[in-house]
Amino acid sequence: MIAAEALAAALLDVEDQRSWDARAEIARALDFEREAQRLGDDLLVARARLHQANMRMRSGDIAGAAEQIWQVYEWATDHGARTLLSRTHLVWSYIHQHLGDAEQALEHAVLAVELLDDDATTHMQIWHRTKLADCLWAAGSMDAARIRYEQAEELAVQAGSPVLLCLLNNRAYTEYDTGNQHFAEEVAERLQCLAVDFDIELEPEYLDTIGAIQIGNGRFEAAEETMRLCIQRHASGKYDDADALGGYLLTLAQAQRGMGAYERAQQSLDSSRELCLERELGELLVRVHQEQAELYGARGMYAEAFAMHKEFFAAYQNLHSLQREARARTRQAMFETTEARQEAELFREQARRDPLTGLHNRRYVDERLPGMIDGESPLTVALVDLDHFKQINDRLSHDTGDQVLVRVAELLESGLDEVCPDGFAARMGGEEFLLVLPGTSVARATVLLDDIRRAIGGHDWRGITRNLPVTVSIGVAGSGEVPSRTQSALLSTADSYLYAAKHAGRDRVVSAADHHGGPRGYAGHASAA
Ligand code: GH3
Ligand code: MG
Ligand code: MG
Repeated sequence: MIAAEALAAALLDVEDQRSWDARAEIARALDFEREAQRLGDDLLVARARLHQANMRMRSGDIAGAAEQIWQVYEWATDHGARTLLSRTHLVWSYIHQHLGDAEQALEHAVLAVELLDDDATTHMQIWHRTKLADCLWAAGSMDAARIRYEQAEELAVQAGSPVLLCLLNNRAYTEYDTGNQHFAEEVAERLQCLAVDFDIELEPEYLDTIGAIQIGNGRFEAAEETMRLCIQRHASGKYDDADALGGYLLTLAQAQRGMGAYERAQQSLDSSRELCLERELGELLVRVHQEQAELYGARGMYAEAFAMHKEFFAAYQNLHSLQREARARTRQAMFETTEARQEAELFREQARRDPLTGLHNRRYVDERLPGMIDGESPLTVALVDLDHFKQINDRLSHDTGDQVLVRVAELLESGLDEVCPDGFAARMGGEEFLLVLPGTSVARATVLLDDIRRAIGGHDWRGITRNLPVTVSIGVAGSGEVPSRTQSALLSTADSYLYAAKHAGRDRVVSAADHHGGPRGYAGHASAA
């Protein structure tokens, strides 16, 4: 168990992280899964898979992540693993966010919070609420978002969690984006004080938020200073998001334009543009065009500003149609995997049904019954065989025989459903059926089955067989009668009683309950009408 505990702890560690080197982490997540498989611990396997899905998503493979997350979702649902489900919904929320679907992202974020319970870690308590707040903001409900940010903040302060920094960064950014510049700056200041308290160096990304807020409040000099610090920290190489630099240079250019330092602004903007072209950062390039137009305008170069605006607009439209197409492709891939899964499920279900009667078939019995026999409570099975069925085929037709089989199946299923809704009926082949009655003693089952037998014999068969009667013989056996508790022993005991019923004259139920001489004897007291 030590190994399982160590693996659980290692998983918890990565699960509660805030950022990962996603590509490298996929390999580690696969190792986790293998180790969990080796330990035979299904919950750990599912957790390792969710971690894989999360890393796939973060390295850009949205469709692959979505497919894997489905399996985890099903396992977690079947096993009532709430905390795992909560994490699953969180990853799902990110997936929809990437696909540009704010509504779905919000729906999953809501579930990620609703499913939090005592098993959830402090990190989850804080982070899932923060994510919900982010989603509420993205869906246009900043008021509702604030409530969640505040809840998350309270928890983070109580726990003294460094996640608080990230939370405040998001809060500051969303307030800024909603036009709440002064409050945004308050939050940003709190973020800076906190970094000092925690003795943590603020990440470049957070400094970029702070710089943008300072620009929004017209504090351009302060913003330039913030952005210089931001770029310097980025250059340290500790934060390996290489693509982010172009964005920081753009914020720097905006601060410099605000100060009236147009030359410096142009230099910063040129560097940003270079990075965009080098690294194919389409989204950022659009914003660079926009800033260039603003800069030309500020310098009184109106013709250039106008031309740049046109270029910006074209690039903007092009980018958005490309993004729309990419999202549509990913959604299509997600849809196809879901559909394929549903088809596979349907196929699996069909493969376990008898096509003529629609009852379960022998394959289904082989899968279900062994697990049911193992249970604590008594289980009784009954083999039902039509009497002189050959005559019906011979005297009427094979087709009529089929109709009789279909009707008998209906009568068996409805009869069983009335007295034992937890049980099931199956066609074992030919004109032989199996009824399974969990939680029912042999004595009780014998009485119930005799009612079903009478219902079949007493059914109005004239529409199908004209004047030929249809009756069944039934052999009943209980799991208590077979010490080995195997399916084959149970069914062969029931078969012996069926054989006895046939020999005793058919149209009757035979079981140990009314037949003390053992199944092979002829006589016995059988419950014929
Ligand atoms: P007993 O009372 O001893 O069980 O007599 P029986 O005639 O019912 O028994 P037997 O096993 O000799 O015959 C079973 C017949 O069931 C033979 C076979 O042609 C018929 N049968 C098996 N499967 C089907 C089916 O799917 N449709 C039809 N119409 N007949 C079938
Ligand atoms: Mg028969
Ligand atoms: Mg038969």
